[in-house]
Amino acid sequence: MSSPAGGPVFADRVLNDWLSSVGLGIEYSRAEANTLYYVDEDGQEVPVLDHVCGFGSLIFGHNNPDIVAHAKTVLDRQVPVYVQLSHQSHANDIAAVLNAILRREIPGGDGDYAAIFANSGAEAVEICVKHAELERRARVAKLTDETSRNAEEAREAVGAGRATVAENPYVRFDGASGESDRLEQLLAEAGRRNAELIARGPVHLALENAFHGKLVASIQLTQNPHWRLPFTSLASSTRFLRADRPDEMKAAVEELRTSLLDVLVDDGVVTVVERDFPLVGAFFVEPVQGANGMRPLTGAAAREIRAVCDAVGCPLIVDEIHSGMGRTGAFLASSHMGLRGDYYTLAKSIGGGIAKNAVALFHRDRFRPEFEVMHSSTFAKDGFSAAIALKVLEMLEADDGRAYRIAAERGDRLKGALTAVAADFPDVVDAVHGIGLMLAVEFKDQTGASSEPLREKAASGMLGYLIAGLILREHRIRVLPVGPAGNSVRFEPSIYLTDADIARTENALRDVCTILRDQDGDRLTP
Ligand code: PMP
Repeated sequence: MSSPAGGPVFADRVLNDWLSSVGLGIEYSRAEANTLYYVDEDGQEVPVLDHVCGFGSLIFGHNNPDIVAHAKTVLDRQVPVYVQLSHQSHANDIAAVLNAILRREIPGGDGDYAAIFANSGAEAVEICVKHAELERRARVAKLTDETSRNAEEAREAVGAGRATVAENPYVRFDGASGESDRLEQLLAEAGRRNAELIARGPVHLALENAFHGKLVASIQLTQNPHWRLPFTSLASSTRFLRADRPDEMKAAVEELRTSLLDVLVDDGVVTVVERDFPLVGAFFVEPVQGANGMRPLTGAAAREIRAVCDAVGCPLIVDEIHSGMGRTGAFLASSHMGLRGDYYTLAKSIGGGIAKNAVALFHRDRFRPEFEVMHSSTFAKDGFSAAIALKVLEMLEADDGRAYRIAAERGDRLKGALTAVAADFPDVVDAVHGIGLMLAVEFKDQTGASSEPLREKAASGMLGYLIAGLILREHRIRVLPVGPAGNSVRFEPSIYLTDADIARTENALRDVCTILRDQDGDRLTP
């Protein structure tokens, strides 16, 4: 229901005004499969083809009848929904299905991942941030135990006159009154430096133009500076690496190398050895970078990312929140690139379009069991969304994975149509990116356009929204811009996309391309 006309507006005041200004200010009243409906001024229901589909959370479309029917029976059966701290076998049922799928899809995978449930994608990412920090802290504790032991041994050896303290670059030993004094000065300095290092938070690795959520920790993994920079003081920092330059990754990570000072006795001499310190918390990766205009990782980047994580010893966290659950034609998009993760995140389509659910999966070799009680949330792992998740998984896996095959086939068909438009408008379209039902058309930069409105909108990053507004107004198709410059338009419909939908989409895109080619800026303005 919309707010009474003229009444005070408490929610979305700025957002709604802005949506109206770009031609996207519509309230939808009904939704099914790939179609949204709104009611026009004459009271008529107007269908809109939805290519946004809940930002990729509707692999089976809006209000899928099988999922809705299942939800109704779940509610009718009075299934317990919130029963925290009791045995909730549905959590294990979901994890068992996920592990069977992971075993099939992950190269060399053993399908042994522990599951922690969450309410949203960003929460699943933050769960991974926390778990990676637990792992890192354990490695730091092991290191500091060793350095403490070595320091004690040095004390004993120097006290017994079995060792002397060598000159070193860390302390000048001014005014030291003997070997024990020199050692204490050295240990104090090493201890001071080590304490400083240990007090620093981790540095995370992610790819340029990554999107991993908007909560306190996850926003630091999302590169967009407008969303990230105001909050840098709240969480650990991220080093963003270029996915298109895998050859540069090792060198970039090498720059983060830092060491703990270990004071030990070697052949009767107390020396200082630098030990690699685990500064890097984790490497977060989207197999298909949604917010970067639906760019899939290359095989070379995937291999390099795995190699970097193995070299550094940090977990590789494959964020499949957007790309997972079948959208790319496999359950995990990362399986296309042969990328094996230590942790995985899933969300969006696991909610079946009617529930909120997310899960983080941790390989058993790394999982710290105490985490099961360290992280919890009132609503996570609830009986209702779990029942929906099991239904979605059953639908995905049915008929030997028919849904994945449809996603791949429909995606190929849609990509073919988008590519045909790109081929006919090379002056206007830069490229078509993506895989399966995770696609984007990237338009050429219009900041140097001859049409003033086009130039202006492109400079303010608004061109993509105006294109979306026009496609909605004139073609009754809902798309949204994506990509760091907002130059791309995203397509992530459900598997029920028809040939007729694809033909309409191609027609609308040709219209937009003609406007851009003709520099007809006025037509874009609502
Ligand atoms: N990671 C990825 C890859 C995403 O695409 C998203 C959402 N677009 C998130 C994390 C955050 O998920 P949510 O919006 O549910 O918090």
